[in-house]
This record gives sequence, C-alpha cells and structure tokens, in this order.
Amino acid sequence: MSAETALMPIAGRQEPVPVPRGSDGARRPDGRVELVGLSKAQIRDALEAEGLDARQAKLRAKQLWHWIYNRGATNFESMTDIAKAQRPWLTGHFAISRPEVEQAQVSSDGTRKWLLKTRDGNEFEMVFIPDADRGTLCVSSQVGCTLNCRFCHTGTMMLVRNLDPSEIVGQVMLARDALGEWPKAGEEPDAKCQPEGRMLTNIVMMGMGEPLYNFDNVRDALKIVMDGDGLGLSRRRITLSTSGVVPMMERAGEEIGVNLAVSLHAVTKEIRDEIVPLNRKYGIEQLLEACAAYPGANNARRITFEYVMLKDKNDSDEDARELVRLIRKYKLPAKVNLIPFNPWPGAPYECSSPERIRAFSNIVFEAGISAPVRTPRGRDIDAACGQLKTASERKRKNLA
Ligand code: SAH
Ligand code: SF4
Repeated sequence: MSAETALMPIAGRQEPVPVPRGSDGARRPDGRVELVGLSKAQIRDALEAEGLDARQAKLRAKQLWHWIYNRGATNFESMTDIAKAQRPWLTGHFAISRPEVEQAQVSSDGTRKWLLKTRDGNEFEMVFIPDADRGTLCVSSQVGCTLNCRFCHTGTMMLVRNLDPSEIVGQVMLARDALGEWPKAGEEPDAKCQPEGRMLTNIVMMGMGEPLYNFDNVRDALKIVMDGDGLGLSRRRITLSTSGVVPMMERAGEEIGVNLAVSLHAVTKEIRDEIVPLNRKYGIEQLLEACAAYPGANNARRITFEYVMLKDKNDSDEDARELVRLIRKYKLPAKVNLIPFNPWPGAPYECSSPERIRAFSNIVFEAGISAPVRTPRGRDIDAACGQLKTASERKRKNLA
C-alpha cells in the first residue's frame, strides 16, 4: 500500500489521521504464511522463501492455487496430487484460512448476513443477497470507515483498519463455503467455475469501508477474484462503490477495471457537504468530471449513481431535475439507484415516503435514465451496513 493511502485525512477534520494497515504481510502470529490473498507468483516466492527449490516451488504454487481457488481446500492433507510426505511440511509453514464467523443470520427473504472477525479481533460484515437471476455478495474493504457520512452507520464507528487481501478474498471464499459452491470430491471443478452454475454470481464492494482508501489491498484482492484460473468472476460482475475519492478513480479504472458505482446522494454543495463530508474536499463537479473520464465506462457499462432517499433533505422534484441536468451536462453513461434510507438507532434522518421516491424516480426515468428503487432486503436481520456490528457491541455492553 502506498504512503498516500496509509495516511488518509478524516473528512471535516484538519489533520490527517493514520489508518492502521492490515496485518503486516501474510505472516500470521503463529509464524505460518497465509496463502489466501497471495498471487500465484507470491505463493511461489513464499514457498521458495521457506526452502523449496525454484522448480518445485513453481509447480507447487500452481497446484496450491488450484486446490485453494477451484476446490475450496482449507487444509493440505486433502491435496491428493501433492506428495504425502510433503503435506505436514506445508501444514507447518502455511495456512489457508477464512475470516472467523461471529454470527450468521438468514433473513425471511433469503438475505444472509455475517458478522466476521479478523485474527486481531476486529469485527466487520458481509451480506449475500439472492435474486431470481443472480446472487450478489456485498464485501467489506475496511473495519469501520473514516468518512463519516451522516446517514451511514459504519461512518459512526471509531475504529478503522484496512482489510488485507486475505481478509477481502477470504470473504468470497467463506461465502462459497456457506453456499456449498465448491465442487464435491470427484466432481469436475470446471462445472461450477462458470457463474451460470453458481449462486454467487456478482460482487459489490459496498460493505463497510471506502474501497478507494484501501486501494492496493482491494486491487490485489479483486485481481485474485477475477483470475480465470481460480474464482474466475468477470470484472463485469464486480462493482466498486466509492463515496468519491476523486484522485483514485482513474487508477481504479485502469488497474482494477470493474464497474463503478458512485455514492452521489445529493446534487447541491450544501446538502452533499452535510451528508457526504468528503464533498468538502472533492466537490460534485470534480467528481462528475472524474466519472466522465472513468476508463471503460460506456453505454454498455454504465456508472451507477447511488442516491439514498432522505426525507426533506435530498428528495424534491427539483433535486431530481438537477440530477438529470448534471448527468446530461457531463454526458455520463449513467443509471441511478434510488436507495430507501435504512434507519438505525439515533440516525439524524428519516426515509422519504414511497410516493416521494416514486415521484423522484419518475422524473429521472422520464429523462431517459434508468432509476430503479432498490428494494430493501434483510430488514429483519439489520442488514443495513454497519448495523450488525453495532448490535453485537450493544449486546456485549449490556452483558458486561
Ligand atoms: N464507502 C463506499 C462503499 C460502502 S457504502 C461508498 O460510500 O460508496 C455502500 C452504500 O451503502 C453507499 O451507497 C451508502 O450510501 C449506502 N448506505 C450506507 N448507509 C445506508 C443506510 N443507512 N441506508 C441506505 N443506504 C445506506
Ligand atoms: Fe464510509 Fe461509504 Fe459509509 Fe460514507 S457511506 S461512511 S464512505 S462506508
């Protein structure tokens, strides 16, 4: 990770505040090297560093990669094409793990939510949303978030640490475990490598945290997720959501190349400054210019503008018309996602009425821009970002 992303200013405060990095390197406290999250070349280097010769390391790296990402193996004993005598050595030096599951819940609508824990005890969340034609995994990039958007529960959490590639890829691996998506023994792995055969078909980087404040780790993790020899998820099935970290957007397009979603949420400086404080640093115009320049965006791959509907705050007809004007002004290949605000205890806003949301959507839609209203999912299990973690903290406090 670059020094720039390690030292991120908290919006609205004067001094940059250091964001603690993810666990340093892939070495675990028990001395073993975590293989999940390493590229194939890094696995080879790690094998060499632990003593294998170059030729063996290359071959073993290829085999390990296959077992980890095509078979979902979590131990070396099951790796039948690796010499039996070498397996205990691998077990002693390497690990293939997943984030620890603190809590797992299933909503009446099929939405699943996990409260996960890093090895150093930090909690974060992951959500799976099944639909008729797809299954979307909402992945976290950080524990907490420094950006303090006023409607977002994650923004109220004090503790922030970047998740490292093993913790980001580990979420996808864990979801595949839970959904039973690895081929069974004797089954051809390729049968389930294609998204058509899977429940988990799409990934959105829309869980806790700002992915562009953890750029290197998110990029490295998504490269592994997209690798055709492994999980093989197409970049067209992955969406990265940013609250508008303008200086990193071009690199995101070039180095990751996934779909872009932008949390716009307001169309005037006054309101966006209030609800997305990062706007004070990178204003709406600057953000939309960066969207217009986003590599790979075109009519077939539109940029999604997320817009959380807050009663009497950003939801008037005038706001909707201004949204249309801005999208047209910057000639953006855009679609708008209207998100009913999901309230949390102490939230300073309310959700707009269904009629208001409908009226807003119609104005945008009549201008020729798709503006679906996202159906709230998993409300019975606190599926709004950040809620499960806080509920768990509250419970612990009450028990203490
Ligand atoms: N930090 C990134 C990605 C994580 S937030 C970003 O802000 O884009 C993912 C999405 O969830 C954002 O669009 C955010 O605005 C939305 N969100 C957060 N809290 C919400 C709430 N209480 N109700 C509805 N949407 C919310
Ligand atoms: Fe962070 Fe996104 Fe929440 Fe804003 S909306 S506080 S950027 S997670």
